[in-house]
Amino acid sequence: MSEIGRDRLLKVRKLCHQLCLSSCVDLKRQGRHTELLAQRPHWSVQKREEQFRKIDHGQTVPFDIALPLPARDPRRPESIQGVSLFWERFCCQNCGRCCYTPGAGLYLEDEDFERIAERVGKKRLKSLCRHDKELKAWVLKQPCPFYDPDEKGCQIYDIRPATCKKYPLHPPLPEMPYHLAVDAFCPAARELAKETLGWWIICENNWARLLQELEKS
Ligand code: SF4
Ligand code: SF4
Repeated sequence: MSEIGRDRLLKVRKLCHQLCLSSCVDLKRQGRHTELLAQRPHWSVQKREEQFRKIDHGQTVPFDIALPLPARDPRRPESIQGVSLFWERFCCQNCGRCCYTPGAGLYLEDEDFERIAERVGKKRLKSLCRHDKELKAWVLKQPCPFYDPDEKGCQIYDIRPATCKKYPLHPPLPEMPYHLAVDAFCPAARELAKETLGWWIICENNWARLLQELEKS
């Protein structure tokens, strides 16, 4: 796609996020995409198997998936609707993969550190972390020391770090800045991405309409 085409599409997506956010979330919640999919061919149906295969690569290759749900705009409280619908539909499989998989570590915000230290003790918490000089922050070692493999759960679930509460939501992808993004490593996130593929038809209808209006103006 040319730079002009990309810029135009980005402008339309931004407009869509500003103007269509509520209606798009309502239509998706009501499952109205099925009527549209019955009316005309769409890649989400025609290329379903191919898309599923791409999504399933998340089991082994790290990447994020953009979802057909509007991302939150911190300046607009009502923009929480996309995130709300995500949590309504997301169903954690309690596999624990996000907790016990070795990785770079889990960044603790200051409030996380204080809250958890109050429960487990500052000295013990520090022994479970490394200090990142660049970030000037404590980072929980991984696999996470708070994951209990026997109970298959988090020992500090009620006071778990903010990152854990948000998981599998990740910051939006640079090329899709107005859409929620999820970690493809999470099996439940992959399932949701498959279930909601058809929702893209609602986004694309909005984009086409806005593009036509832009061209007229
Ligand atoms: S990886 Fe996903 S499905 Fe598994 S426990 Fe974590 S959030 Fe739940
Ligand atoms: S703090 Fe709890 S929820 Fe977060 S990674 Fe560790 S075990 Fe999982």
